Amino acid sequence: MNAITDLFDLRGQTAVVTGASSGIGAGIARLLGEAGANVVANYRRNEEGARAVVDELRQGGGEAVSVQADVSKEDDVARLFDAARDAYGTVHILVANAGLQRDAPAHEMSLDDWSKVIDVNLTGQFLCCREAIREFRSRGMVPETCPSLGKIVSISSVHQFIPWAGRVNYAASKGGIMLMMQSLAQEYAHEKIRVNGIAPGAIKTNINTSAWDDPQAERSLLEKIPYGRVGEPRDVAQAALWLASDASDYVTGETIVVDGGMALYPSFREGG
Ligand code: NAD
Repeated sequence: MNAITDLFDLRGQTAVVTGASSGIGAGIARLLGEAGANVVANYRRNEEGARAVVDELRQGGGEAVSVQADVSKEDDVARLFDAARDAYGTVHILVANAGLQRDAPAHEMSLDDWSKVIDVNLTGQFLCCREAIREFRSRGMVPETCPSLGKIVSISSVHQFIPWAGRVNYAASKGGIMLMMQSLAQEYAHEKIRVNGIAPGAIKTNINTSAWDDPQAERSLLEKIPYGRVGEPRDVAQAALWLASDASDYVTGETIVVDGGMALYPSFREGG
């Protein structure tokens, strides 16, 4: 190890990653595990996906367990953190990633589709953040392990600031996540809890397959991405690693946009 790799060394720390059985969550769980963290890979239904992440980390010499829990249910979230404590004693890092879409024009959107997205994306993150903060505070500072009491990385979306027709529930949930993240950062910075967000643009996962899985769809998506490629889970995971590590120790209340320039109003390049 040298001073640079030390900065990203998560050995001795435990990370709970929600929605870790696929896509961005699986990518983050893998990278935090590669950096030495004990990984608690949460899944809702896809046990096989979470198990694959856990097996891969264990085969590489890492520590990982998978835990079933629905993040929108208070008792499940308490059980998730109990399982993390049982396995590794405490939690140092939460990556609140689980999320879903239920798209429909607003005038046709059912209350169920509205509520489901808010319950999982926003309330689910709140429940996980609350449980993580309770755990950080009850453990107390251990400066030999980490200069902060705990770290939360909240996975939002560029749709926390870009309106999205046909997905009012999703955009509202992500806008809510932004102010929840900043409010928690403001509330707990004096206790040395850091809370930050990541706003991904288009990343190749199950949530948006139709946007990139045929060449014409991908071409039209690329018109919105100046950097010229659709993102991969690892692109988001690298930002999550930085935010979870001591390399970002003085950073709280920030959102890192990981979008290949999508949010830069690329059409203005040709003149406004
Ligand atoms: P994904 O569908 O592969 O992952 C979402 C994960 O959340 C799945 O593993 C799913 O099982 C889990 N999940 C859903 N409901 C849950 C619940 N109630 N309890 C526990 N887990 C639950 O898609 P993804 O793209 O990897 O999405 C991960 C996060 O990234 C989401 O919050 C999504 O909004 C966000 N995001 C994705 C993109 C993108 O382009 N892929 C862009 C911006 C933001």
